[in-house]
Amino acid sequence: MQINEYLKKHQPVIYRTFENAIKGDHLSHAYLLSGSVGMPLKDVAIYLGKSLICDEPNPLACDNCITCMRVDEGNYPDFMIFDGEAGKIKKGDIEKIIDNFDKSALESKGIMIYVLHLVETMTPIAVNSLLKFLEEPGKNIYAFLTTENESKVLPTIISRTQVLRFKAINRNEVINESLEMGVLDEDAELLSAFYNDSNTIKRVSEEDNYQIAKQALNDQLNSLLMSPEDAIFTCERLIIPKIKTNDIARLYLKMLAEVFQNLLNLSIGEDIVLKSYDTILRELISHLSNIDKSLITIMTASNKLDLNVNIGLLLDHIVYQITKEGK
Ligand SMILES: [Zn+2]
Repeated sequence: MQINEYLKKHQPVIYRTFENAIKGDHLSHAYLLSGSVGMPLKDVAIYLGKSLICDEPNPLACDNCITCMRVDEGNYPDFMIFDGEAGKIKKGDIEKIIDNFDKSALESKGIMIYVLHLVETMTPIAVNSLLKFLEEPGKNIYAFLTTENESKVLPTIISRTQVLRFKAINRNEVINESLEMGVLDEDAELLSAFYNDSNTIKRVSEEDNYQIAKQALNDQLNSLLMSPEDAIFTCERLIIPKIKTNDIARLYLKMLAEVFQNLLNLSIGEDIVLKSYDTILRELISHLSNIDKSLITIMTASNKLDLNVNIGLLLDHIVYQITKEGK
């Protein structure tokens, strides 16, 4: 789904607000796109930025003109993007923006745009530099900031920006959209637990890390049906050697937690989202006696990943907890 369609369909308030600002020529110099993990914040930030310089806006960016394409290719000097997902945004990054925009615009449109994705990752010194810049923006400089956690953004930043808050999409709707885009049922069901966007789900479902994590999940679930010994053996021999990085481990644990959340729901007679796993989940219920405690163990383990613990030991600990007898 194109970002234009996504905005119209799922974020109509943001679409209209921005459309009116462009038409009425009362744009803010800084916007903060506020949402949660798994929403296409960066893509929307870039799209709104492009809308200010597009050759054939209607009234937002066309995504087809040479200017739109140059931005997408990272080949438009007056459009700078810093991605907090790839590492903290530092003071040096903000200085680069200030230096670059201190001169007059390089492009004939004379409009300069910067995107700071995930401002909550900025170092305190970087925030300071940014604040000064936001206070006295140049005439034709526009900022598009994003955050997945508005409560972690300094009030001084929020007060200097116009906040555009994203609305979460109903999970079933996300699943249906993903299926329409050709994503497999099980992938759409699993990934919709963490991504509130069908484009992201499609992209992640094709990534190697996800495929490895999903295979590990399926292997572990099947082994739990056999016996506790089999489950432990599978974890140590099959799964730990494959889950080599924190990224894969994080995905694996998120999915395992989602499975246990569904098991918990099933055990009290509620509907489940993981319909592709219905048969195996129903069988698993009769094999496991610690579903609630296991869920807590899995979620705690996820948090420990940030502390650089040994992944193998962590996964071992989880499978022992899951297979433990009694309440
Ligand atoms: Zn365009």
